[in-house]
This record gives sequence, C-alpha cells and structure tokens, in this order.
Amino acid sequence: MSYPQPIDLVVRGGTVVNADWQGAADVLIGGGKVLGVVEPGAYRSAQPPGTTEIDASGRLVLPGGVDPHCHVGFTSGDFTSLDDYLQATTAAVFGGTTTIVDFAIPRPGENPADVAAAQRAKAEQGLCDSALHACVVEWDDTVPEQLRSLTADGIVTVKMFTTYRGETMADEKTILNVMTTLRDLGGMVVIHCEADHIIADTQERGEAAGTIGACHHADTRPELAENASVAEILAIAESVAAPVYFVHQSTPEAVDLVARARGRGVRAFTETVAHHLTLDDTAYAGPHPERFVCCPPLRDAGTVAGLRSRVLMGQVATIGSDHCCYDTAQKESVSHDVRAMPNGLPGVETRMPVVFSELVVKGGLPAGRFVEVMCANPARLNGLYPRKGVIAPGSDADLAVWDPAVTRTVRSANLHMATDYTPYEGMQITGWPETVVVGGRLVVAAGRLTAPEPLGRHLRSGPLSRSLVC
Ligand SMILES: [Zn+2]
Repeated sequence: MSYPQPIDLVVRGGTVVNADWQGAADVLIGGGKVLGVVEPGAYRSAQPPGTTEIDASGRLVLPGGVDPHCHVGFTSGDFTSLDDYLQATTAAVFGGTTTIVDFAIPRPGENPADVAAAQRAKAEQGLCDSALHACVVEWDDTVPEQLRSLTADGIVTVKMFTTYRGETMADEKTILNVMTTLRDLGGMVVIHCEADHIIADTQERGEAAGTIGACHHADTRPELAENASVAEILAIAESVAAPVYFVHQSTPEAVDLVARARGRGVRAFTETVAHHLTLDDTAYAGPHPERFVCCPPLRDAGTVAGLRSRVLMGQVATIGSDHCCYDTAQKESVSHDVRAMPNGLPGVETRMPVVFSELVVKGGLPAGRFVEVMCANPARLNGLYPRKGVIAPGSDADLAVWDPAVTRTVRSANLHMATDYTPYEGMQITGWPETVVVGGRLVVAAGRLTAPEPLGRHLRSGPLSRSLVC
C-alpha cells in the first residue's frame, strides 16, 4: 500500500470511534492528514525507523471535537469575555476539542461583513483551527450583498437572536429575509430563541417584587419564552422552505417542536449545550448564583432529565459548549440585577469530558453517538465535513486518544480557561483525553502542552447541501 505522503505518525493499538463505525485499528498520519485507518499492526513491517508512535492500547481514538458554539473575547454590554484565540484554543485542545466555531457579532452600527473579517484574522493565533458564524441584526439594502460575499468567502452560517432588544435582537421580517437569502446561497440561520417581550415583562415584575438578582435568574427567563419563540421561528423557516439551526435548546418541548417539524420535512436542527444537560437550577440557590447566569438559564431537574432523554432518542443534532469566559469578579459586579449581567459560562475545555462522563459512562449513550453529536454533526452542519469530525483518509489529522476509564475531580485550578472558576467544580468525571493531535502534531501529551506554537487556520466552510440531514 502506498500513501500520498510519507507516514510520520502512527496511533497504534486503540479502538477508533467514528459516528458510523468503530473497531480496533491503527491510524496512519502524514502531512497533517489521516492517510489510512488500517488493521492493527498491518503497517508495522513497512514502517521506516524513526516514525513516531502513540500507543493507544486500551484507549479510544476519537476524532477531535468540533465545538459549534464558542464565544472568544466576546463583548456584550459593558463586559468583554476574558480570553483570546490562543487561550481559548489551548483550553479546547486540553479538553479534546480541535476545532471551534466562534461568532462575529456586530455592535450597534457595525457592519456584519467587516466584523467577520476582523474576527477571522484572529484564527492564526489559535493552537487549532476555527470557523465563524456571522451575525445579522438589522435588514437594509446592503445585507444581501454582504451575505453573498460572506458565503462565497466560506462563512455560511449566520447567527440571529429573538432577544436582547436594542443589542442583537432582530425582528421577524429581518429573520425571514435572512433565512430566504441564505437558503439560496447554501447557508443557514443559527438562532437564539427566547421571546423578548415575555422576558422583559417577567423581569419588570421581578424588579417590582425585588426578585431580579442572580439567585432569581431562572425565574426571569421562563421555559415558555423559549418554546414560544422556537414555534414562531420554525413557522417562518417552514413558510420559506429554509434550513434553520436552533442553538442551545434547553427544554424538551423546544426539541420536540423541532423533531415534529423535521417529520414534516423542515430542515431544522437542535443544538443543546453541555451545561443544560448536566447542571440544574439548584445552582442559583448556592453560594455563587452569579457564576451560573447564562441564557437560557439552567432549568429544573425534570427539564434536564427530559432534555437528556432527547439526546438518547436521537433528536439532538449537536452538543456545543456556548463557552463564554467571564470571571467571578465580572459576574459579581452586577449580580443584583440579571439584566445587566454578562451571560455565559466557561466550557470549551470541559464540554467533551463532562458529556462523555454524564451521557456515555453514566447515561448509556453509545460512543459512536457521542462522536456524532460532538464531532461529526457539528462539522456537517458547519460545512466542514469530512475535513473535520471523522477519522478517515483525507481528513485533517485531528484526534484525541481518550482514556475512557480514568476518573478525575474537576478543579478550576487544573483547567486552562482564562477565568477563576468552572461550573463543574468538584464533579467526578470519568473519561479524559490523554493525548491530542492537531493537524498531525502532538499538541497535548501526558497532561502537558507539547507544541505551543500557534498554527491555527480560519476554515472556509463549504455550502450546506440542500439535502442536509443529520
Ligand atoms: Zn452563545
């Protein structure tokens, strides 16, 4: 067997897990790409001396994680999250994630294409590759041309919001127009759904009652606000036959609305995020409620169980982190009023281990399904498959050698995110990445960074197929 490049790295003796296949195999790597996935030992006789080997015996060999929802250095209101590309991607690779999809979100008055160009230039500061979602807030005559140039340039997904009035919220006609335009360009709207008018009213009543602080956060953003908004956006997508991707769905009802729409032929997709599947609203009764303020909020235990069951039932396409790296001081400074708070939790590093431990080890999710929702589907839905999200000849050589049995206690001090806390402090996690390869380079080994040089690339996404299915 000959390969298009010399083999310079072999991952030997492990169990390769792709979304659709798993088995004992060696992975041959050269020139930053996977060259072959071969029977164990098949290559050994022809192996030149000096080829680097990673012994993966007793381990899983997973495609590097693709985090479809990651905010890096994000400014919202008076606050900017605390990491840059090097910090965010360093944390990502320690957690087994080797591709992140960040957002280019305009501030009022800024132009979506300009913001995307500025954010895209930061990719080279990363330890791993990254892609971008653009964002449209207001419709005007220039938007169709901006969307044309963005999609031609490899940015095919556009974030929109039905909340945060006066900042990033778009009206329904703007959402319809952007969906229709992207439908014809091979793109897709990715949308944060919470009905702003319901939340604003709930928060006004909370203010009058003196219940607007961080400990009341869950009450200020009720589940029905999310469910109502998802129903409305699905109706718009269905009416114009456009694909739509719902970020961070936090209620089983919202997931079920999407599943029913898919049954009618709507190309609609559910993303959930790790913290909505693993934490609940009792966190707001604890000593640091502000550390758990995110939107949508953490839900009650029954809702969390219902959401997990939707993952097991195959109704969830992707699991992201919604990583947003604020620290305790930023969160505490306005914790008396959730309307002023920086929303979001640090999570790019913990996404893969937490979901593996809670859903695979404890919940019975098959490892192949884990790879599907953490790696393959996020790559597909961002136009990055099969370059990312699978271990197969021709794919980028991004992978994680995963110890499925090791148990560790999560401590913020042992993590690499640019903040002073983790929402998972003290949690026992079974299953961690041991060795991480990015673009054929050994980047993490034995808990240490072995290749600190930033060689990240901005990934140009391909157009999303009209037959997009997950
Ligand atoms: Zn987000």
